[in-house]
Amino acid sequence: MSRRNHRRLPLPRSARGLARRVRRILTPSHRIALKRAALRDCLKRCVYCAEQLQLEAATLDHVHPVSRGGADDVGNLVVACGPCNRMKGDMLPIEFFMRYPWAGLNFVRYARTAHRQLKRGAKRAVSLAYAA
Ligand SMILES: [Zn+2]
Repeated sequence: MSRRNHRRLPLPRSARGLARRVRRILTPSHRIALKRAALRDCLKRCVYCAEQLQLEAATLDHVHPVSRGGADDVGNLVVACGPCNRMKGDMLPIEFFMRYPWAGLNFVRYARTAHRQLKRGAKRAVSLAYAA
């Protein structure tokens, strides 16, 4: 086996943090594939309001907006309905979930493949919102 083949093996968990920081530019067909995968991973629901979603109505949302330093990677991508995506706009997840804690609760339930750090942040925002 050549060295080249070795590099194709999946990265160990400890090395994923490095890959996570790499920014990729998505082609339209890659985007559709990502949307399909995200829709399946989120149990075909908007991760914020939990409405059932068809592929056509689903929009890809960067939980941590790219405009505010978020990564363009699958752990930061979820599906949301258009109204929730517009309502969230470029708010940071902590801002959004503190304002709409119900969205944070749904996010924890349905964004199954989102980064654990994002889910922990969502839980924290929900408890802060309910404590206030
Ligand atoms: Zn929604």
